[in-house]
Amino acid sequence: MDKTLRFETHAVRRQAKKSLHKEHSVPVFETSSFIFDTAEEAQAVFAEEREGNIYTRYSNPNSDELIDKLCKLEGAGDGIATASGMAAVFLGFFTFLRPGDHILVSRNIFGTTHLLITQVLSKWGISHTYVGMENLKEVEEKILPMTKILYAESPANPGLDILDLGKLGKLAQKKGLYFLFDNCFATPYLQNPLRYGADLVIHSTTKFIDGQGRTIGGAILGSAEYINEVRQLARITGPTMSPHTAWLLSKSLETLSVRMEKHCQNALMLAQYLEKNPDTKWVRYPFLPSHPQFNLARKQMKMGGGLVSFELHGGSGRAMKFVNALKLMSITSNLGDTRTTITHPATTTHSKLTPEEKKESGITDGMLRVSVGLESIDDIIEDVEHAILHSRKP
Ligand SMILES: *Cc1c(COP(=O)(O)O)cnc(C)c1O
Repeated sequence: MDKTLRFETHAVRRQAKKSLHKEHSVPVFETSSFIFDTAEEAQAVFAEEREGNIYTRYSNPNSDELIDKLCKLEGAGDGIATASGMAAVFLGFFTFLRPGDHILVSRNIFGTTHLLITQVLSKWGISHTYVGMENLKEVEEKILPMTKILYAESPANPGLDILDLGKLGKLAQKKGLYFLFDNCFATPYLQNPLRYGADLVIHSTTKFIDGQGRTIGGAILGSAEYINEVRQLARITGPTMSPHTAWLLSKSLETLSVRMEKHCQNALMLAQYLEKNPDTKWVRYPFLPSHPQFNLARKQMKMGGGLVSFELHGGSGRAMKFVNALKLMSITSNLGDTRTTITHPATTTHSKLTPEEKKESGITDGMLRVSVGLESIDDIIEDVEHAILHSRKP
């Protein structure tokens, strides 16, 4: 398809393969294997001399379709669709790390990625160092001779800190490190880390890419060369995305841009409302001028994203009361849904962190994280307003 087409058009129209039966919507290819016309054709496809599907653990038209689109939207050469976001993180780590290696990790990352690093990588003789990646000098100082990977997220969970992708990309390149970046919170619509020097981008498609909380999935995207290495491990270990999930996600991408526009508009309005409310202790949103990295966020992101973090006066007790008084929002740790969701990180997603780790990651006992959905913003704000009043009572 024409290279000059824009993001929205690719997301809607890009189709990896020509339709077979003049169908307008791509069908689901629920098949475990594929057949060959001749023994010679089988030989050529197995030898990778000819393109073709062999077995759905290796590839399938639906995951090809999804990856082709995602690559176009992220600016990647190739990619692999995985059974979950964690499977994509796992593949990224285990393709490029060997026993004795070291990984340098941004202090604020997704909770299960933290467990993969501390509980699994450590068993395979791979050491790690956490560092606040806002400070480039500190990052450089922590690089060891055996450091192989620089790993980061931005906006980060749950404090919505913003890291300078361009500077981190340059540093990784200078030091010969693989730069792996989890772009789950921003999605390819808001930010394209590969254009800033990331080597591999990871997505949990479970969140905004699905957008309606239906599926678990992930993707890892990068240059054809790196993805080829990841593919060898993926084919052997089998963390494959199901054809049905890939089909749903390819449909989801068709509406990604309109959904993200609305998520971001609603989130900004909620953040502005909270900032004006005297019961708010603090509020964090990348596109609020009060955000410490506001200018950087404006530079590298198209809009501010769908998440807002904040704290009301009154600490943990007030936060719990507030959550219980909400009538509209769903209490769940999931995010990126059409429905607004709220979570209390200190007692749920980040409850396994030590008090010291919580402090370093900026997770206070009263912190709340909202993933702002696509309901009317007036209804969302009324829900918050009502819960703020009701949580004031002793
Ligand atoms: C949810 C999430 C993951 C893990 O994805 P799953 O699909 O749940 O395996 C990784 N990174 C971030 C930032 C996430 O929010």
